[in-house]
Amino acid sequence: AAGETVATLAGLGKEYGGVHAVRDIDLEIRAGEVVGLIGPNGAGKTTLVNMISGLVPPSSGSATVLGASIGRTPVHKLAGAGVSRTFQHSKLFNRLSALENVLVGGHLVSRPTFLRRLLWLPSSRRDERAALEHAARCLNRVGLGDLAGNRASSLSYGDQRRLEIARALASEPSLLILDEPAAGMNHVEAAKLSALITSLAADGLTILFIEHNVGMVLETCTRVVVLNFGEVIASGTPEEIAADPAVIEAYLGTE
Ligand code: ATP
Repeated sequence: AAGETVATLAGLGKEYGGVHAVRDIDLEIRAGEVVGLIGPNGAGKTTLVNMISGLVPPSSGSATVLGASIGRTPVHKLAGAGVSRTFQHSKLFNRLSALENVLVGGHLVSRPTFLRRLLWLPSSRRDERAALEHAARCLNRVGLGDLAGNRASSLSYGDQRRLEIARALASEPSLLILDEPAAGMNHVEAAKLSALITSLAADGLTILFIEHNVGMVLETCTRVVVLNFGEVIASGTPEEIAADPAVIEAYLGTE
């Protein structure tokens, strides 16, 4: 329900051979929030979401995401708990249709996993129809219902990025993590994406996303977290962040 704790980070840190990629982060994410993560290149954004999504174990501190302890919970269990994500670089299956991408997708799909999933596809006709209908609903949700049969590679760039979101929705997540979803989009596509994120949040989804398009972040998020040199230097409403001198100096001023 809205306001419930989705993620709690306490002193979370990650070190790579003496380099503090992320340092001592305390953060709480509540249900229904749309949290934007911004910061200069190398600030630690990717490392932070990789830890929250269970891909990278922390070197220090702890985090609980949807009741699961990060670093001790395998990625597939976290997915089962309701965490789903997209990646900065598209991982679509270009030769499959949009619908098939959602069907075989879920998230964190590697090619071997994909092949295994194909073998595990529901065998009864009824299950198969239910899976197809579910995938079609996910496509409709992101506005791609009409392009279900089109090859992923034939979709426009913005549609491909939305297809990735549809695939992430297939596992019916509670927390959706997006890594630079607007990267490479033009203004029209970014505005469409912003509207989609807002409408997913209105349905009760909690969203955390990394984004370099600061205008889009300020417009879309209920809260913005700013990282610099691995640390949180500011956290607040878009209005607070846009007016914060430390943020302007560290980040916005350099844009
Ligand atoms: P960008 O906006 O460029 O994607 P970012 O904010 O996501 O940057 P990270 O990719 O998390 O930043 O990197 C934070 C710091 O940690 C950088 O100094 C980076 O070089 C370092 N780093 C990240 N991953 C590794 C790794 N696997 N091994 C060594 N150092 C790493």
